[in-house]
Amino acid sequence: MHEAELLFTEVLNCGRPELYLNKDLKLSKGKGTLISDVLKRRALGEPLQYILGKSDFYGLQFKVTPDCLIPRPETEILVETARKYPAENILELGTGSGCIAVSLAKSLTQARITATDISDKALAVAKENALIHKVNIDFIKADLFDAYGLTPNTYGLIVSNPPYIASGDIETLQPEVRNEPRVALDGGADGLEIYRRISASAAQFLVDAGHLIVEMGFGQAQDIIKIFKKTQRFEIIDVVKDYNNIERVIVAQKKVK
Ligand code: GLN
Repeated sequence: MHEAELLFTEVLNCGRPELYLNKDLKLSKGKGTLISDVLKRRALGEPLQYILGKSDFYGLQFKVTPDCLIPRPETEILVETARKYPAENILELGTGSGCIAVSLAKSLTQARITATDISDKALAVAKENALIHKVNIDFIKADLFDAYGLTPNTYGLIVSNPPYIASGDIETLQPEVRNEPRVALDGGADGLEIYRRISASAAQFLVDAGHLIVEMGFGQAQDIIKIFKKTQRFEIIDVVKDYNNIERVIVAQKKVK
């Protein structure tokens, strides 16, 4: 559904066909005011998902608040790729709304999944989403790997959609993105800072031959591959493109010593 349909179906509590079939439906005053209030917020750049408090991702509906990034369709590629590398223990870094961890938990039912975030508020949303979707995930507050509760040599798969926008580019983004939490977007001066930090510690937490799978932004693949290779702990085994033919996901594997 496009945005106007999402808005009207939500406010009128009906399905998409009814919008087109009930053409002479009169809006009550309350609903009319509600719609015009929402339209005003939307016109000022507030993302529809924040206004409605929800977003679809990987065939599921997630609660979202301005404390977490709105799930992007490209990130479904990260989930789809990660599903090909199932592991007994899976760690997600920077879970935000929890959409990646929950989607993985839904499809990899045998895995024990741990998800971290630096933001307490985001973790609260992620926990709610795990409850809504009835999956069991261990949520830990952490600045990447910096937390008690994460055990070295444990995870067969580490996944992350880290912040990857260069700090200086954030102000140039469309207003919708500027409504999202900066901590979920800002990847430092060149946008690659979090990949440096992840690759510096990931091998220590992965089991031998375990996989590290990350999402990335447009044009970042070669730089991230260099960063991963420089650690001498990883082999790059795949680069996956998104629906727009943009390199979006890197699969690295921990070398066995
Ligand atoms: N995909 C997001 C965007 O392009 C960025 C999310 C991120 O930094 N991980 O707006």
